[in-house]
This record gives sequence, structure tokens and C-alpha cells, in this order.
Amino acid sequence: PRPHSTLRVRPLTCTETRRGDRQVVHSLGDGAVHVSATSPWDCGFGRAVAPLSRRCPRGQVSAARHDATFGFSAVFDAGASQEAVFEGSGMRQLVELAMDGFSCTVFAFGQTGSGKTYTLMGPLGQSDTQPASPALLGLMQRSFTCLLELSRSRASDLALSASYLEIYNEQVRDLLSPGPPCALPLRWSKSRGFYVENQLSVEFESLEAIVSLLLQGSQRRRTSAHALNRHSSRSHALLTIHVRSRAHHPPNVILQASACPSKQGTLCFVDLAGSERVKETGSSGELSVEANSINRSLLALGKGWGTRPGSAPTRALSLVTSCVAHPPAGHCISLLAKPRGKRTHIPYRDSKLTRLLARSLGGSGITLMVACISPSSRCLSETLSTLHYASRARRVTTRP
Ligand code: ADP
Ligand code: MG
Repeated sequence: PRPHSTLRVRPLTCTETRRGDRQVVHSLGDGAVHVSATSPWDCGFGRAVAPLSRRCPRGQVSAARHDATFGFSAVFDAGASQEAVFEGSGMRQLVELAMDGFSCTVFAFGQTGSGKTYTLMGPLGQSDTQPASPALLGLMQRSFTCLLELSRSRASDLALSASYLEIYNEQVRDLLSPGPPCALPLRWSKSRGFYVENQLSVEFESLEAIVSLLLQGSQRRRTSAHALNRHSSRSHALLTIHVRSRAHHPPNVILQASACPSKQGTLCFVDLAGSERVKETGSSGELSVEANSINRSLLALGKGWGTRPGSAPTRALSLVTSCVAHPPAGHCISLLAKPRGKRTHIPYRDSKLTRLLARSLGGSGITLMVACISPSSRCLSETLSTLHYASRARRVTTRP
């Protein structure tokens, strides 16, 4: 199956409205979205929506520099509910595929503040004083519900477990293990592929249990966000649900373990580090280490899958993930977009993110990409870069 490439446009925030930011992103329906700013300093009287005659084929950018239309398999604008995103993005199908033994991955990407965490987790990511209203629950909680419902309706025993980790500055940290955070080594073995040594994988059987694991993990992530400046927006977070299903047997029939048909699927939620450029002024010390780490991991994704033979979907994904990085990304994209034979060496080493996702994204892996953007005129340039790369990847996807 082809991965879906979807777009979510969040509403203007109160702050943005109060300071008079203009809305520059407009959904045209049918998967098309239009960015209508004529220039970044135009503040109020620009064209709202380009005439239809100016619309381009899906995935292409119209001629004017800041006036462009992009195509996605689905666009969710400011009025779209969390439920609409779950139902319209293909997330439910992804859950079903994970139940059937496939490795499925959802990526949320975009600049910091564009709604990645909100889309994945709802407001749970921000406040733990009061439980989020059910209508605001994100893709994660809706998927858990769906998974547990499916497991009850199907005639199979399901063993569900979760692991949750983050990658910050090329260090892998377990978000579920108690005690002070420490970096865990990444290892490789023939049977397991790449894995994180001593990583916790916690079994769960109820919605309450998995939601509480999610809360614990995101709290740990936020705790370090206060200690380490801007931490959470500069780290990737990976929540993986392992689904092992085994067909039912009549209780009096004893089968050898090897005779039990067992499938193992995974459902991985990736909240990628913010894709915005790190300001040049901060390009020394901590910031540059962060930027380099994010660059390295995102670009390495592109390198790894771009060269894997016969996997168009993952190649498209790799394009997106490589493209959401920083200035050198442009170079990398053009390399990846070239026919394989003409590609020169891509000068980025493998990263932890690449290695951790290698199994779920290689071969039969199925992906859902959720590009997140703000509609504000102030975010115009980052928005254009997210849209540009996302739709470019989509175009690659549609090639045979
Ligand atoms: P990111 O994870 O991309 O940095 P967040 O998910 O934290 O961004 O969102 C930034 C802010 O915008 C938060 O206050 C969040 O509640 C709000 N927000 C994001 N998306 C939506 C939405 N679809 N509807 C309402 N508020 C949203
Ligand atoms: Mg976030």
C-alpha cells in the first residue's frame, strides 16, 4: 500500500490573532491547499485565494514565489476535529495493518508550534492538571482504542506492549524507565536487527494502562524540556506499540509452540524534532550540536531508504524526512531525486533515528505522514518549506 501524505493546518492561536497575524494558508478542498501571501511583509490586503485558473497540478508549485498550491491525499484545516483527522488520514487502516502483522509508522513533522504533538496526543502533551476532553484526544489515544476494540472483536489473543524513547543529540533515552535519564546504547544482532539495550517494553491490556504510560513518558520528556532549554522541540520521540497476535485454539488441544501461528506487527508514532532552521547567531555550542544531530538523523533517513532497492514508498518517506531538516537538506533532496545510478555519495553518516526505524520502514513497512503547519503570515517561510518538501515527496511516491 502507498503511504498517505496528509496535511494539518492548525488554527491561529490567541496570541497570533491578538497581534494581528494574517491567515495565509487556505484549504481549497479535494486535497489542495493554497498559500496566498504575496510577500512576507504584505500585511492585510493580499489576495485571499488565487483564481482557480492558477491552480497547478497536484504537488506542484505555481510560479509566483509566495503564492503556491500544493496537493495532499488529505488536508485538514483549522476547523477539522481530532476525530476527522483520525478517520480521514488512514490511521484506522494503519492500526488494522499493524494487527495483521505489518510494521506501520506515523510521522508528524513541521516547525515547532505547528501542532505535531497536539495531533498525536491532543492537549495531554501540555497539561496534566485536568484530563483532556474525549473530543480532543489525538491519533495515539484513538489508535489505542481502535487496537483494543479490534483485539476484542477478532478471534485472536493479542499481546500488546509499548516502548517509548527519545533521541536528543544522537543519544537514545528511555522515557519509560524510572530514575534519572541516561543514554542507552544502540546494538545490532542478527535476530533482532538494531535495538536499544535495556530498553523497557511494558505490556498493557487496557486503555487506562497505555494512556498512563504515554503520560509518564511525555512528562519525563517535558521535565527535561525545563532543564534543558528547548529540549522537547529539538528531540525526536518514538512510541512503539508491539502487537503480537496468536490464533485461538480450543482449550483442550495442546499445540507445540512452533505450531501456533503468530504474527508480530508494530505501530510506531514519531514526533519529529521541529524542522525550523536554527538561527545562524546560535550556530556555536549547544545549538550547533543540536542542529547537527537533527540534520544528521533526518538526512540519514533519506540516505538509508533512498538507496534501498525497490521501495518507492519508503523512498518517498525518506525524502520527506530528509527534507524537513535544515539548509543542507536542499542539496540532499536533489541528490535523492536523481535516478539511483546518477546519485553521488551523500555525505551524511547514519543516525540513531535511521537505525531505530530501519526495520519498521524497510521492505513491507507502511507509513503515514502528517505535515503540520501554522496558517500565520509570520510562519510563512517555514510553512512553505514544509509544504514544498512534503508535496515533493508525494510526487515521488506516485511514480511507479
Ligand atoms: P509542536 O508539537 O509542533 O511544537 P504543539 O502540538 O505543541 O506544536 O502545538 C502548539 C500550540 O498550538 C499548542 O498550544 C496547541 O495546543 C495548539 N494547537 C496545535 N494544533 C491545534 C489544533 N488543531 N487545534 C487547537 N489548538 C492547536
Ligand atoms: Mg511538540
